[in-house]
Amino acid sequence: MIDALTDLNSAEAIKRNELRVKKPRVFEKIQRFDSLAQRGFISPILRLAWSYLCNFECDHCCAEHRMDRFLIKITGKPEQRRRMDYSDLARLAQEADEYGIYRFVLTGGEPTTWRDLFKVIEVLDPNRHLVIMDSNAWLLGEKPEFITRLAEAGVYKMQISLDSFVESEHDHFRNKPGSYKRVLKILPMVMDAGMKLMVSTCLVRDRAFSQEFEDLCRYCNDIGAMLYVTYAKPTGTCGQHEDWVVTKRDADRIRELEKKFDITTHMTPSYMRDKTAGSAPLGHYDGCITVKGINTVEPTGDIVPCPYMDWSIGNILDEPLGAVLDRGMRNRWLGPQRNDCLIGEDMQFIQIHNAKVAERKAQGNYDLPVPYGEGFSDADLITA
Ligand code: SF4
Ligand code: SF4
Repeated sequence: MIDALTDLNSAEAIKRNELRVKKPRVFEKIQRFDSLAQRGFISPILRLAWSYLCNFECDHCCAEHRMDRFLIKITGKPEQRRRMDYSDLARLAQEADEYGIYRFVLTGGEPTTWRDLFKVIEVLDPNRHLVIMDSNAWLLGEKPEFITRLAEAGVYKMQISLDSFVESEHDHFRNKPGSYKRVLKILPMVMDAGMKLMVSTCLVRDRAFSQEFEDLCRYCNDIGAMLYVTYAKPTGTCGQHEDWVVTKRDADRIRELEKKFDITTHMTPSYMRDKTAGSAPLGHYDGCITVKGINTVEPTGDIVPCPYMDWSIGNILDEPLGAVLDRGMRNRWLGPQRNDCLIGEDMQFIQIHNAKVAERKAQGNYDLPVPYGEGFSDADLITA
């Protein structure tokens, strides 16, 4: 096997060495990925939306229409479909490990609201996978001992949302007064507890040019956390705010700022690296990362190839994870390399995607994602 360490710069090699010692199985999988990626081997992040329960109601949420509170408002009933149980989750973790996957991101919803959060972490097994967690920080700020428990349970990295470096703007965007203060309070505590830290921020049109955004970039640099920038998309709650959707001008500005600060999006070259000491690489920069770089595992077991899409590529309760991913890579929309954003820029796909979701809603069917066969289907497969 090629020793990928020999191809890395020394800083990156030190980070990898930390993993080699602390998490040898993860290290082995990263090595395999690095040496085989050029031949089409994939090792995507699996975002595990174990539950969509959330204590916030953010303006830009792309998960709101999956939540029970939304379903109850519209249909009078919470989610009715079968949910994954712990044995399904254990099988998923096993199949992911065998496939060469090494990253699970706990997301939702807000993972700190899950009563069985620590059980979920245990079943995933932090020795075999990097367990990373998204959080709005509210409950962590309320009970800082929560942070230590997460570190002790094996959580590798926290991804904390901070949507403006101006207190009133963040709190307004998140519809939660006091949120900004809690975020800033817990950021150093996460690192002190021994976890890696990433700050996530949602970029709306023109924000990249503001003093506030530059101040946030500088602050993250100063505390040693990478800033992960997600672009507002015309889906979910953001669908009501077309004026938020970023333009090429914004994206070009981010590329400029990347040269100065440790920031990235999943569509820009910095995605290759994370300067945070001891961090594993974020991914391989190669344009849109549907299937190949990111997939969400829904509570129902459906696999969705992009956080902003509402169509499934298959369900792990019906077939093995590897079969779903391999078929996803043969899908003409999702598999081939592309530099544009499928759900943000490809008008043909956006229209087909949104029309199918709207058609189901018009029939009173609010179950998302659209199951495989009704949205994505075998008709989309590339034939040899
Ligand atoms: S915290 Fe996250 S999941 Fe909860 S409403 Fe806000 S964006 Fe949505
Ligand atoms: S479709 Fe867009 S948002 Fe989704 S993975 Fe591709 S580039 Fe990212």
